[in-house]
Amino acid sequence: MTYELKKQIELKGLTKEEMGHYFETIYEKKFRADQLYHWLYTHHVTSFEEMLNIPKRLQKILETDCTLEVLKIESVHSSETTGTKKYILSTQDGKLIESVLIPDDNRTTLCISTQVGCPLDCKFCATGVMGYTRNLTSAEIIDQYYLVSRDNPGKITNIVYMGMGEPLLNFKNTHKSLKILTEAQNTRLSRHRITVSTVGIPEKIKELAESWVRVRMAFSLHSCFNELRSIIVPINDKYPLETIIPNLRYYSDKTRSRITFEYTMFKNFNDRDEDIEALKKLMSQIPSKLNLIPFNSIDHMNPKGVSKKLQATPYGRIMEFADRLRQHDLTVLIRDTQGDDISAACGQLAYEQAAKGRASFNFDEES
Ligand code: SAH
Repeated sequence: MTYELKKQIELKGLTKEEMGHYFETIYEKKFRADQLYHWLYTHHVTSFEEMLNIPKRLQKILETDCTLEVLKIESVHSSETTGTKKYILSTQDGKLIESVLIPDDNRTTLCISTQVGCPLDCKFCATGVMGYTRNLTSAEIIDQYYLVSRDNPGKITNIVYMGMGEPLLNFKNTHKSLKILTEAQNTRLSRHRITVSTVGIPEKIKELAESWVRVRMAFSLHSCFNELRSIIVPINDKYPLETIIPNLRYYSDKTRSRITFEYTMFKNFNDRDEDIEALKKLMSQIPSKLNLIPFNSIDHMNPKGVSKKLQATPYGRIMEFADRLRQHDLTVLIRDTQGDDISAACGQLAYEQAAKGRASFNFDEES
């Protein structure tokens, strides 16, 4: 005889409203959701037993119906020089993902993943080389925050969706996780401290602008010229800059926030004087700031084709590039190469851990 196991509910993937509905289905009051949120996001409990104001009989029901932990910490790699910590986490079906904790002067940022691997195939990115396996569930996105924060109590001040994957190609779960994080007020994370980084999926940028989850938006620009951007970011052929920029402007208007343009710098490719001119023009059209990212070489992965040719812009040129733009009153930051020694820079997540098998991804439909 075969039994079909009832799938357990991933509690950390539920918004407060969904949790309230769940309690109603088991004839409990909706306010239990507030209690659970409190235990989960203020006390970071790991079992139902620790939820003191939840009656024993209800704890038993929750134990049967629901799961609390959906990820497990496999290993932690700390950088001696910068204090950056890379967490390798495993899902229940044995896939590996990464989250990176990056301390800075007055903030500590957690960089989280939204997919196992990534379907975008950007030519300079280690995750791209791994290929794409699957979307993370909303609980798996939240559990990264939960686990790392329990390991570093009170430390995390900011979250960036800049790890493995493209958040807006996993829109439903990304959006839900943003809702959960902003609802769990005791996390101290306001929407101003959460940033979603995207390659630029026009209709999803618009959809996020129109939802009430108004977090900050970063856009991986890398070049103001379509011909060049398409070489390193192949999805630019499908969504060229002129389809993305108006949606970013809309996002900025709706959320009254500046867009961060991320710009990884490649020698003689996007660090030329004409790139400075194009950036000046673009940034005058949209409330924004520019984040210049030194390229973290992926040579250790034996890249082929375009990837093999890409070289980092020398630091002196990055400084000069930034200064020339600052002379025009533009905000330009240069990102530290945090955690180089543990290959932990966001977006350059360890490929050697890659799950086997490369699934295909339909860009028009979420899977
Ligand atoms: N898919 C999303 C988020 C993941 S990539 C996006 O495209 O924005 C997050 C950032 O890491 C991107 O801005 C990307 O440019 C940067 N990145 C990826 N690989 C890198 C590398 N090898 N060196 C420097 N920056 C890199």
